[in-house]
Amino acid sequence: MTPPPPFAKGPRPSGENPSPPEGSAPGDAAGRWMVPIAALQHAVYCLRQAALIHLEQAWAENRFTAEGHQLHITVDIPDARARRGVRRVTALPLVSMRLGLEGVADVVEFHRAPAGSTPAGSAPAGSETPYPVEIKRGKPKPHAADTVQLCAQALCLEEMTGLPVPEGAVYYGETRHRLPVAFTPELRALTLDTLRALRRLFETQATPPAPSRTGRCRACSLIELCRPKAGATSALAWRARTLAARLDSPDGDDETPP
Ligand code: SF4
Repeated sequence: MTPPPPFAKGPRPSGENPSPPEGSAPGDAAGRWMVPIAALQHAVYCLRQAALIHLEQAWAENRFTAEGHQLHITVDIPDARARRGVRRVTALPLVSMRLGLEGVADVVEFHRAPAGSTPAGSAPAGSETPYPVEIKRGKPKPHAADTVQLCAQALCLEEMTGLPVPEGAVYYGETRHRLPVAFTPELRALTLDTLRALRRLFETQATPPAPSRTGRCRACSLIELCRPKAGATSALAWRARTLAARLDSPDGDDETPP
């Protein structure tokens, strides 16, 4: 998992949209923030995690994130090459102005439709069908974080190319296997529901509390910042309080500045 770009909280004049994140595009067709595609993956895993990363810019590495970086080394470099009739593009920027989504696809393959075979919903014969491939370090998971992220890429590709994108795949480094993912109406609906939940999160700018029970915390790199059992809401506020208390303490006065 690549560290996200900064997604800063900004002043929020009443009645207006929140300030856009620093360094991001000015907004979609409706003037809303552009939502990073990676945020959908975080939101499906844990909405609090999405808030910590994208509202509070909290980030921490663990073994899983470090292994993810290693696996992404080749696909993080923009490149395009063709092999056996399939064009393969890495690090392809994606955007949907209709949905207000943006991100970068690890790999997009462009498969040429066989002449004479144009089943309903597929690309016209002779055209290329985009086929996004997301690279993940682990193995297939019981939740939909990976498939929702991939589906968001498909929605962007459909808008960008005007072509249907019926399927993609997630490649898992641990199993070294590609899992095909069909972009069904159900998966598309879940992706759009997740996007709506993120929009609400960005509009309220309120980090939700930790879910009362989550088996996902052990694998979460943010567990030390999040402190799910402490009932803290904002990791940023907790860090500020801890720092202030430390600076105010008698011990803090004795410390020599670096
Ligand atoms: S530690 Fe648990 S509650 Fe906190 S962000 Fe991670 S998964 Fe969510």
